[in-house]
Order: sequence, then C-alpha cells, then structure tokens
Amino acid sequence: KKEQLELLSAVESVTKDGTQMRLSANISSVKELDVAVKYGALGVGLFRTEFLYMDRSTFPSEEEQFDVYRQVVQKMDRCSTVIRTLDIGGDKQLDYFPLPQEDNPFLGYRAIRISLERQELFQTQLTAILRASAYGKVKIMYPMISSVEEVRQANQILHRAMADLDARGIAYDADIPVGVMIEIPAAAVIADLLAEESDFFSIGTNDLVQYVLAVDRMNEQIAHMYHPYHPAILRMLRTIVDAARNAGIPVSVCGEMAGDERSIPLWLELGVHDLSMSIQSLLRVKHRILNTSALDACSTAQQCYKLATSSEIEKLLTDFNESSR
Ligand code: PEP
Ligand code: MG
Repeated sequence: KKEQLELLSAVESVTKDGTQMRLSANISSVKELDVAVKYGALGVGLFRTEFLYMDRSTFPSEEEQFDVYRQVVQKMDRCSTVIRTLDIGGDKQLDYFPLPQEDNPFLGYRAIRISLERQELFQTQLTAILRASAYGKVKIMYPMISSVEEVRQANQILHRAMADLDARGIAYDADIPVGVMIEIPAAAVIADLLAEESDFFSIGTNDLVQYVLAVDRMNEQIAHMYHPYHPAILRMLRTIVDAARNAGIPVSVCGEMAGDERSIPLWLELGVHDLSMSIQSLLRVKHRILNTSALDACSTAQQCYKLATSSEIEKLLTDFNESSR
C-alpha cells in the first residue's frame, strides 16, 4: 500500500473533474523536508521553527537560524516556504527560557505574545528569515494573532530588521509576503480587518477548534468533544474564506484537518485549493483527491452546512469519502 501510494509522488493532485489542489508539507525539521520533497509536496506550507530552539541550552543565533532557513529554502527550489515565527508556550517549553507557571497555558503567554514582548529575540529570527529570502521563495507567518495591533507591531519589528539588513548591506526579498495564522476565534471574526494588513491567511484548525469549542487539544478526558466537523467550525471557515476572497488575498489550511481526507469536500466547496499537511498525510490525501468528483463533493459540503450536529456532518463526510473509493 505504501509503495502504491509512493507512485503518486510525481502525480498532480487534481480531482476526477479537473479541479487542481496544491498540497504542501508541514515540517518541523530539515529531515522531514527530504520526505516532503520525495513525496512531491509543492511547497512548505508551515515550517514550525520551534525545533530550532529546542534541545539546546541557549537561543539560536541569527547565523544558526539563517543557516537552517537557507537550507530549507534552497531545497524547496522554486516552491515556496512559509516560515512561521516562534510558537512556544502553550504545550511547548524551552529549558533555558523558563515561562511562568500558568493555570491556562493555552490562554497564556505563547507565540506572538512572547515575540512582541521579547522583541530582540523576534528581530533576530526575522532577520534570519529575511536573509534566507535572498535564496528562494520565502513567506513569513505570524502565529496566534488575535488583533490588528499585533500584526502592526510585528510588522514594525520586521521593518526594523529590514533597516538593519540595509545598513549591513545584506540582501533580502523586500517584497516578502507576510501572512497570519487564523487560529483564534477573534481573528476569524475580524478576518476582514486582518486581511487588510496581511498578504495571506493560513487557517490553523488545531488551535481554532480548541478555542472555538473550548476543548483543550491536549486533554484526553474531553478528546471526544474535539470536533473539527462542528457546525460552528464550518461557519467560521466560511467567514475566514469570504474575508480573504473579498480582500483578494490567498487562503490556505495548515491544521490537521487538511490532512483528514474527509474534509476535502469542504475545501472544494469553499474554493480553498491550497492545503498544507503532515508529510504522512500527503499521498493519502492526494489519492483521495484523484478519486473525488469536485461536483459531487461540493453538493455534499452544501448539505453539511444544513446539518445541526457534528456527528451528522462527520457521518456525511465519512460516507462520501467511502463511497468515492
Ligand atoms: C494549528 O494550530 O492548526 C497549527 C497548524 O499550529 P500548531 O499545531 O503548531 O499549533
Ligand atoms: Mg497553532
């Protein structure tokens, strides 16, 4: 089965009736990058940079980070790499950067909130990313955005990093696209406002589901309540995609939902053709896309929007997935 799937590596992901999808990889190490390339990923849609900061005793220097980012960008060649700035806190900790003990770490000091407070760390990372952008197609993505102010503040630090590189005479892509993750409900609700400040959106369903449903994604006791196919999630996806479309910016999905083939009808119906997923999901999802009729998928998705419960939606999508086998 694995060998059969691997035959699809070089095949384009297109539905039976000709709708193209772009499948990219979520990676969190350079090792995973080789697999992504081997499986024919058309880009890195989410480069989780946390690993660079883990298993060591100090923050990585600009040079160390630049070295890794450049490797990734060069390996992706003409495909683009979306580099997400540091997303620690929540469940991810660094030994050398003790974070305060928190009652609700997922509602606490994490990701962009840390970056905007520890601006020297953030600027170092942005500088390293900018330098890598001289070697290929790079996009910058901010995690855990909940307001327009955060985007503006982050961009100010980005501009500082650019000015610093100008002063040092170091090259970078001055038109580097800068986007935000939509993974906090507030961001989804104000997606129209955020779209004015962003070059692209990437929907982080892992956190979005956790926050919309108030279900801790790490808590096994309530894992049965973690429903990506909840009507509230479907509505929120629609809000985000409409806002991106109205503003004329691209939107992709990089949460685990993108790697669940049952979600394909939802993306087709929303007109989201750009999915980024873990490397293990790439060929499985591509295989499903190749066996899917976009026309049938869209009518199934439209029915999903009329259903009142997660279990009915999930069942409809599961049945559709199995019928198109
Ligand atoms: C997400 O929240 O959906 C996401 C892709 O980011 P992470 O899983 O790293 O929080
Ligand atoms: Mg997230």
